[in-house]
Amino acid sequence: MKDRYVVAECPRCHTLLVADARYKSKTCPKCGSRIPIDSLKVIQTARDSREARMILSEAKARRGGVGPKMI
Ligand SMILES: [Zn+2]
Repeated sequence: MKDRYVVAECPRCHTLLVADARYKSKTCPKCGSRIPIDSLKVIQTARDSREARMILSEAKARRGGVGPKMI
């Protein structure tokens, strides 16, 4: 993986989060479970934390507001 940051979804509670790809795992801020980076449902990767946060807020905006409709 060439990009350092990963915008992904927690496989347990489906919270969107940003993970640093340098680490092997990420603790979900919502459910607190420790998830190996490999197990995250990656949405997009980013080169820096600013880009990652932007992608994260866009993904949240897309998901929020319109109800629990999943595509
Ligand atoms: Zn979670």
